[in-house]
Amino acid sequence: MLCCQRCLGGVKFPLAIRSRLQLMAPGEDWPDDDLEDDSVDAITAEADLMVQSLVEDEVLLALPIAPRHEECESPLASASGHGASPFAALADLKKH
Ligand SMILES: [Zn+2]
Repeated sequence: MLCCQRCLGGVKFPLAIRSRLQLMAPGEDWPDDDLEDDSVDAITAEADLMVQSLVEDEVLLALPIAPRHEECESPLASASGHGASPFAALADLKKH
């Protein structure tokens, strides 16, 4: 669940990531095609490699920078639409 940048409501964002990392020994020559092949990222394998922070980085990269609803459903957003003005309701009361 992300926060809509327009109405601050919750936006459901289904996240599914598939990443392939190529572990390289420290000092080992990195593959030349690393820059061309986007399906694999080469990383240096260290004894204390933090898998949790690797996963965290991948998730953060996959999230939209400014999440928002395609159409916001907040009361504020719909009040500005046609026919929902509070003044229209007042005018209706005056008639009776
Ligand atoms: Zn919204």
